[in-house]
Amino acid sequence: MPLLLPKHLMQKINAYLEETYPEEGCGFLLGYLENNAYILKGIYPVPNVWEKKEERKRRYSVAPEDFLKAEKEAQRQNLLLIGIYHSHPDYPPSLSEFDKANSWPDFIYLIVSLYRGKAQEAKAYLFNSHGEFREIAIQITEEVKQ
Ligand SMILES: [Zn+2]
Repeated sequence: MPLLLPKHLMQKINAYLEETYPEEGCGFLLGYLENNAYILKGIYPVPNVWEKKEERKRRYSVAPEDFLKAEKEAQRQNLLLIGIYHSHPDYPPSLSEFDKANSWPDFIYLIVSLYRGKAQEAKAYLFNSHGEFREIAIQITEEVKQ
């Protein structure tokens, strides 16, 4: 099941993560499932609230109240929270042991690597309810004007 990612949203995600560099940045992915694909329709950036600021280059955490806000925003737009995106500053976009230990089932994890402050490569993983991770394909799509 691929993740269909409109180009303008990928640009928004990259721009936000370049702003939070060299700390990890994070946010929610809003969308829905259709014809065996995850369709991304919006993003909801949230602050990285990992307690020790000096560790935010390698760690992130989301405040429970930001999760609730994102969920409300998704509902308002008739969408679902389908996953989380976060950055890996100067590090490949692979799941770290920390990421695996802190993932929620049935959520997509989109990771963007940044080098010298510039977004380079994105990978997406699905954490299923059996506790397994699978990389899923990212398809960048051109947004259809409405
Ligand atoms: Zn990570």
